Amino acid sequence: MDPLTQQLLGARLQYYRDLGIYDFYRRGVASSVPASAVAPQPETMPISTYVATPEDMSAAPKPEAGVADRAEALRLIQEDLGECTRCVLSRLGRKTIVFGEGNPNAELMFVGEGPGADEDEQGRPFVGRAGQLLNKMIEAMGLKREQVYIANVVKCRPPGNRTPEREETETCSPFLLRQIAVIQPKAIVALGAVAARCLLGLNEPMAKLRGRWFDFRGTRLAVTYHPAFLLRDPRQKKETWKDLQMVMAYLGLKARRAAE
Ligand code: URA
Repeated sequence: MDPLTQQLLGARLQYYRDLGIYDFYRRGVASSVPASAVAPQPETMPISTYVATPEDMSAAPKPEAGVADRAEALRLIQEDLGECTRCVLSRLGRKTIVFGEGNPNAELMFVGEGPGADEDEQGRPFVGRAGQLLNKMIEAMGLKREQVYIANVVKCRPPGNRTPEREETETCSPFLLRQIAVIQPKAIVALGAVAARCLLGLNEPMAKLRGRWFDFRGTRLAVTYHPAFLLRDPRQKKETWKDLQMVMAYLGLKARRAAE
């Protein structure tokens, strides 16, 4: 395949991934699975079905346990993360670990997928083009970036901005879960299908995840499109704004202006 076709195909695949579509089938290949072997689909979506990882379930006390000061508790988690080499991302060109940033007492937390090139350079989440759009979304909600907390499912940049592999998200997400447990936000917004899948353990397309609340361990969680996807398909901004308005209504926020 020539490089241009490969690039176009890659972009198209990313577009589908952003929509939460991961499985592709070749036309003409007959399925050998009998209908009776296909599990019945639930009519309603289960809520919060995050599958705990061994680290998550480990009985070892976490350094932040019992620390009332949330900023200090987050610092202890970051210290525990250290110069992490727990997964392959640490050996695949990562420059900086992007821990997350924002108000330790935030009522609203955004969770993205993983750092891109700009984030990897600066060690801060969402500082590139997608981050600029996220900033506009936050401001449109009547908030300042410093008022919310922003983190990612994986803290190291996947090479070429590829989607993080399951093993990488499973290794890294316990740190995110600990951040959430410390911050105790009133609401979480999962940006894109990867964050939603990680936090909810659901393999559903975005169409089924958006526009509704999930319960994430006692915290309300909404799913909306990832800002990088919105940069590629700005027509979906309207839909995102609806999701954000649902969050705003719950948090009692007044719109500043619609996200552009
Ligand atoms: N995309 C993400 O998912 N996270 C970032 O921090 C930046 C871009």
